[in-house]
Amino acid sequence: MKITANDPDKKTWLHVEKNSDFPIQNIPFGVFLTKDNITTIGTRIGNYAIDLAALHQLGYFEGIPLTDDIFMQDNLNDFISDGRTTWRLIRNRIADTFDKEYKKLKENSKHRDIVIFDINEIEMLLPVDIGDFTDFYSSKNHALNVGKMFRDTENALTPNWLHMPIAYHGRSSSIVVSGTKIRRPKGQTFPKGAKNPMFKPSESVDFELEMGFITTDANKLGKSIDINETDEYIFGMVLLNDWSARDIQKWEYQPLGPFLAKSFATTISPWIVTMDALEPFKVDSPEQDPKPFDYLQQEGENSYDINLEASIKPKKQKQTVVSKTNYKDNYWTMSQQLAHQTVNGCNVRSGDLYGSGTISGPKEGTYGSMLELTMGGSKPIKLKDGTERKFINDGDTVILKGYCKNKKVRIGFGECRSKLRKTK
Ligand code: MN
Repeated sequence: MKITANDPDKKTWLHVEKNSDFPIQNIPFGVFLTKDNITTIGTRIGNYAIDLAALHQLGYFEGIPLTDDIFMQDNLNDFISDGRTTWRLIRNRIADTFDKEYKKLKENSKHRDIVIFDINEIEMLLPVDIGDFTDFYSSKNHALNVGKMFRDTENALTPNWLHMPIAYHGRSSSIVVSGTKIRRPKGQTFPKGAKNPMFKPSESVDFELEMGFITTDANKLGKSIDINETDEYIFGMVLLNDWSARDIQKWEYQPLGPFLAKSFATTISPWIVTMDALEPFKVDSPEQDPKPFDYLQQEGENSYDINLEASIKPKKQKQTVVSKTNYKDNYWTMSQQLAHQTVNGCNVRSGDLYGSGTISGPKEGTYGSMLELTMGGSKPIKLKDGTERKFINDGDTVILKGYCKNKKVRIGFGECRSKLRKTK
């Protein structure tokens, strides 16, 4: 089926600012609370949130097989379970409904009042009920940088790293939507030079600039997903901040990987941008040497050109961009990650979340964490207000942004923002 919603020449009758992340070619999916306290599934065009439950009730999805309450939910899991054909039909229909040439909704002010909200009048909620969360470690630059600091230069990449997408199972209960405040965690650390471990608030709370992808129900327990079929099962992407307490991580991570250093919070952006909307921004993924096993081999363009940035905004001050990087250089692709996740027969479900791992470029200013940007805290970075940061301070807000751009269209992810509060 053709993705007519992606037509780069399409214009909408709604006002959209020139550099908006949400032109009519985006049509992401999210969940929001209206000013009348009603939770609904919606999309966004420009600075308008559109109530899809209301559109459905008013008959705008006529002819598309949907249950009556598919959009009257507090998460997207059921809609995602409906599969790729339905996602496409709905995105195409929304694009038609808001097309400049289409008059039915445009000229019905009663319907418009029911369906369209100003983005400032609504509150975004977590878009999916996340059953399982896997966080990968797929940026080679990041793995090299961290390996040098946590181990040594000779053994920066562990022997398995070039053979499979390394990951750990994360915690889903503490995944929160952009805007939710985070509390500085307490935990065990063993600082350099100390005689014994200590228990205290973390002194090195960090962000990790990541992208996450969300799956639909894909395979039964015991079956795996062929790498050439993974596209069927990936619904879309969000920005993801994998909050990390480095001092806790350093003391606890061996031999089973991160635990409490990561599980205190993970923040995601509220609008899921579909893989269909990202289709025009597919690019080659990096060459892989050695060649991976057959189950991880794929043809064609398998990465995405997504510009990313991270900023720190101290309390009552302007924000400073501390990192600019791009998703496309990630060594392991989403397809490889999903094929690997299921190769042992592990089943994936609708609403599951997969983090890319911290996305770091090859040089200074392109690293996706403070750990790398400040060389483990040894080279603090200066913010616009004159203060320095080794890691994240109480009262700081971390803001992640991301967008794709070609000559005709810009598709963005909005923001993933969260403020760090002091330990209680
Ligand atoms: Mn991570």
